[in-house]
Amino acid sequence: MAALSKVFDEYMRTKTCQTFLMHPESCPVHCLKDIPLYLLSNFKYFAPICLLPLLVKLRHINKKKLRQTLEYYAECSLIGTATGCTINVLICFVRYILGRFTYYSYVYVPSLIGGCMYNLASDRVKDMFETSIFQCNISIFLLQRSNIITRLIANSKHLQTYIFMCCSALILQGKYVYNLKGFWFLQPNNKLVEFGNTENPKCQLHSESSCQQHLWHGMRKYFLLGLTLDLIKTMMNNVDVIKTQSKMWRKIKNFRIRSMALLTSYIGIYRFTHCYLNRKFPHQKNLNHILSGFLSGICYSFYPQSNLFCYALLQSIFTIWNIIRIKNVSSKNQVLKYLLRIPFGKIMFPIGLANIVHYVCLKPEYCSPLVTAIAYGVTNKYPSVIKSEVALMKQTTRCL
Ligand SMILES: [Zn+2]
Ligand SMILES: [Zn+2]
Repeated sequence: MAALSKVFDEYMRTKTCQTFLMHPESCPVHCLKDIPLYLLSNFKYFAPICLLPLLVKLRHINKKKLRQTLEYYAECSLIGTATGCTINVLICFVRYILGRFTYYSYVYVPSLIGGCMYNLASDRVKDMFETSIFQCNISIFLLQRSNIITRLIANSKHLQTYIFMCCSALILQGKYVYNLKGFWFLQPNNKLVEFGNTENPKCQLHSESSCQQHLWHGMRKYFLLGLTLDLIKTMMNNVDVIKTQSKMWRKIKNFRIRSMALLTSYIGIYRFTHCYLNRKFPHQKNLNHILSGFLSGICYSFYPQSNLFCYALLQSIFTIWNIIRIKNVSSKNQVLKYLLRIPFGKIMFPIGLANIVHYVCLKPEYCSPLVTAIAYGVTNKYPSVIKSEVALMKQTTRCL
């Protein structure tokens, strides 16, 4: 079979936006008409992402936190709209400049330029956008199964669990020792300041309570958090309504204790092993923590899913990078100092975004539901129109 790029270039030689059925109206009318739709789509997409944490922390909410969350929500939605609209305009504009669609100038180049709009956002929003886009790229890379390593990882849940355990140890250790930022499912224990009585070693992680209480408090907190997340997920899931059953009943029947089992077992194993090891080997503070972070990662086997795995891989890369930066902050090596100042996130973001849009439109078989949901959410499902036309093109050219 001929390469997709060759087929695409050949097929699109005479196509315009209208003849390729991307939009029936003229390009300027299409771009203007889409702005309010993109705005609505973004506000709808970011609502659960930005506002759900409010529901989880409902008891501790105050006016300031509420205002900050709403500002964050508005900023995410507006930056998403700006990026989506820019890409939309550029798809038509680049075709106009070049005279026709080509494989890479079709959506890749417009997304590469449109991705730069994210520089208008605050650091907090930039972090969120970068995390989602890089996570999606890791998932596309794994789904391609292009080499023996990705094939092995994608096919083996045991190998995924082992890698997740290593990631868990690394991320928790980064937070425990270097106090690194970035979301992780578990808050590490407080850092041990110094060891006191060597004659009668006892766990010094929690001066106020016993080990059992420490374990119980953690498990209760994460149990409730997981249960809330599972309930919210169940309520938001779209279910197929059968005539004889009400929608609510179907939703209740679809309830799964996923986050609850994962979070409760994660904190349970982590706190239990950390307390146990601290009592047995009180001098090995760092090693004890690394080992408990590693062992608790086994909870991944209860709820293995690729989004969680890709997120853990990405957070591990961030952790390693941040530790290297902290360790070399006073380094005299000029080359290293220069390298550490390069904003890799800002450089990689447009490339990552362009890669995702390119795959969603032209090779959707390598995109997980999360990747597709993000691309659709920000662009009012515009890629779905492009995707179906490209699928038709593939079918037609195969028939020729
Ligand atoms: Zn157009
Ligand atoms: Zn303890």
